[in-house]
Amino acid sequence: MKALVYTALSVVEVLDVPDVVLGENEVLVHVERAGICGSELHGIHQPSFRIPPLIMGHEFVGRTDGGRRVAVNPLLTCGTCDLCISRKTELCRTRLLLGAHRAGGFAERVAVPTSLLHDIPDTLDWDRAGLIEPVANALHAWHLAGAPSGQRIGVIGGGPIGLACIEIALANNASYVACAELSSDRANVAKEIGAHFVANALDGEFDVIFDAVGNATTRTKSLEHLIPGGVTVWLGLASAESDFDAAAAVRFEKTIRGSFAYSDEEFVAAIELAPLLNLSWSTTYPLTQGADIFLALMNGQTTPVKALLQP
Ligand SMILES: [Zn+2]
Ligand SMILES: [Zn+2]
Repeated sequence: MKALVYTALSVVEVLDVPDVVLGENEVLVHVERAGICGSELHGIHQPSFRIPPLIMGHEFVGRTDGGRRVAVNPLLTCGTCDLCISRKTELCRTRLLLGAHRAGGFAERVAVPTSLLHDIPDTLDWDRAGLIEPVANALHAWHLAGAPSGQRIGVIGGGPIGLACIEIALANNASYVACAELSSDRANVAKEIGAHFVANALDGEFDVIFDAVGNATTRTKSLEHLIPGGVTVWLGLASAESDFDAAAAVRFEKTIRGSFAYSDEEFVAAIELAPLLNLSWSTTYPLTQGADIFLALMNGQTTPVKALLQP
């Protein structure tokens, strides 16, 4: 079968690979859409937990042999530890990610443990379904921020996760939503989906700020523009380095929360929420063009905002 394979540092290629072999309690999923994630674009530049050769892709939807339309929660958790039992499965210390620790969705077919399959309604088209995973991420971040209905929300970064954060904030009656985004293409999308203010940088104070970029500058800004006592949720992973004024965060009682992935309940909630959101900002490409679009995005191209690959 055809697959987009991470073959060496900063290299991805479309290759013919051996077909999938199913393990116990696994089913074959025929991929319909697989989203390219920012974490993958950043993640293959240096040695990490993604070890080549690897079929990446943790954001995918498709059909089973039996014809079920499914979204796949890509987090494989142990199910028996303290965190799994207390339903914080996303924090399982031994969690594995499909598309990172084992083969993912940038292929015609994937082996998926049955416990990770979730039905999606026939009314949700594949392009929108392909954005369920980023929506689940934003929903989890929203919950970590305390589900702050009616407040002033700042979002740094107008990529897929930032846009999903904007949509979740608007869907929850935020009084004001601002987005900081440097690319004019992405800024335009943020405006189109309803952000009240979009510029190169945030202006003023916010009750909650989501950092969907994750470098030293954006982390500093996420604290500077926060109201005393406010919460910033960090989702971005552009860089491990930070250089913020921790003493100011102490004096003004600002909370920093890291956000990664989502619970199974949040993933299901994202499936239910997806039809209600404006998810028109993806572009679908044939898997055979996957290497070209992946490398273009990796090298800084800002459009499409979200690329989905279709085998
Ligand atoms: Zn992702
Ligand atoms: Zn566990």
